[in-house]
Amino acid sequence: MRPIPLVDLARQHAAVADEVAAGFARVMEASAFILGEDVAKFERRFAAYTASAHCVGVANGTDALELALRAMGAAPGDEVILPANTFVATALAVARAGARPVLVDCDEDYQLIDPGQAAARIGRRTRAVVPVHLFGQMADMPAIAALGLPVVEDAAQAHGATQDARAPGAGSLAACYSFYPGKNLGAYGDGGAVTTNDEELATRLQALRNYGSDRKYHHPVAGFNSRLDTLQAVVLNAKLAHLDRWNAERVAAARRYDELLRPIDAVRCPRVRPGNAHVFHIYAVRVPRRDEVLQALHSEGIGAGIHYPTPIHLCGAFRDLGHREGDFPVAEKLARETLSLPLFPGITQDEQVRVAEALQRALAR
Ligand SMILES: *Cc1c(COP(=O)(O)O)cnc(C)c1O
Repeated sequence: MRPIPLVDLARQHAAVADEVAAGFARVMEASAFILGEDVAKFERRFAAYTASAHCVGVANGTDALELALRAMGAAPGDEVILPANTFVATALAVARAGARPVLVDCDEDYQLIDPGQAAARIGRRTRAVVPVHLFGQMADMPAIAALGLPVVEDAAQAHGATQDARAPGAGSLAACYSFYPGKNLGAYGDGGAVTTNDEELATRLQALRNYGSDRKYHHPVAGFNSRLDTLQAVVLNAKLAHLDRWNAERVAAARRYDELLRPIDAVRCPRVRPGNAHVFHIYAVRVPRRDEVLQALHSEGIGAGIHYPTPIHLCGAFRDLGHREGDFPVAEKLARETLSLPLFPGITQDEQVRVAEALQRALAR
C-alpha cells in the first residue's frame, strides 16, 4: 500500500504551480531578487489577512522572534517568559536576542502556556512574555495580557488562527510567523514575518532586517541580513489566496480523525479551547506506549511524528538554565505521550481511515 506521509506538500503545489512558475520567470526576467514589489505586496496582503497595521517580511520564523524581541528592546540581563513545550526555535530566538529564557509549564488540556505559572515567574528583570500558539490554536490571550508585560506571540504554527475572532497580534505588541515549507502557509525555502500595530516597532524591524539601515549606506543601529526572499514572496502571494480553504480542509480532517478515533479508548484526541478557531498545523493525539506505537505505524508506512520529543529545559542547548527532569511535569508527560498523525490539505478519507485502523492495531499489540 502507498505510504501516507506526515505532510504532503506536493498536493498544495498543484494548486499554485502555474502562478509560481510565471512569478519566478517574471522575477528572473527583471533580475530584481531582493525585496521589491513582490515582498511589499505580500507584506500588505498578510497585514490585511491578519488585520494588522504592518507586516515586515524576514528570513525565517526564528529571526522574526529574535528581531521582534530586539526591536522592543530586549537585551542582555533581561528575562523573557516562554513555555517549556515548544519547538526549540522559540527559546533560541530569546537567547539570540541576548535575554534569558524563563520557562513555564503548560496546562494539560490544551498544552498551551499556563498564565498562572507565568505570573509566578515575573521578576524585576522580566522584559516580555512569548506565548506559543502550539499546533495551531491560540494561548489564553486575555490571561496573558493580564500579566501586564509586553507580549510577543509565536504564531509560527497559527496562520489564520483566531481567538474570539481576533488574529494573533490583535492585543499584543507583535506576532511572529514562520513560512517554513511545512507550515500552514509555507514557502519553497525559509521565510518569516512579524505583524504589528505599532508603527515605530515596524520601522525598527525594517531597519533591523536590512543591515540596520534606515536608508542606503546609513546604519544607525547594528542590524542583520534577514529579509524575506523575493522568490519566496512570489510563492507566498500565490499560496495566501488558498490559505483559508486549506485551513478549512485541515479542520475537516481533524474532525474526521475525532470521529474515527472516538471508539478507541486508549487514544486522547486534541481539544480546542472555547473561543479558538484552531487551524490544526498538527493533529497530536496522546497514547500509551507511544514509542512502540510510532514504530508500528512506521512499519505500516504511516508517517506519524512526535512534536516534540524533548521539552526545552531538557535540551542540551539550554543546560545552562540549570533545569532537571521533573521541573515541568506536564511538558515532560506530553513529550512522552504525544503522537502526531498525518494531516495536510488534500489528505483523503481513505488515508485517514487507514491511519486510524493502523493506530488501533498498534494499540492492540
Ligand atoms: C517553525 C517554528 C519556529 C521557527 O520558524 P523557522 O522559520 O523554522 O525559523 C518557531 N516557533 C515555532 C513554534 C515553530 O513551529
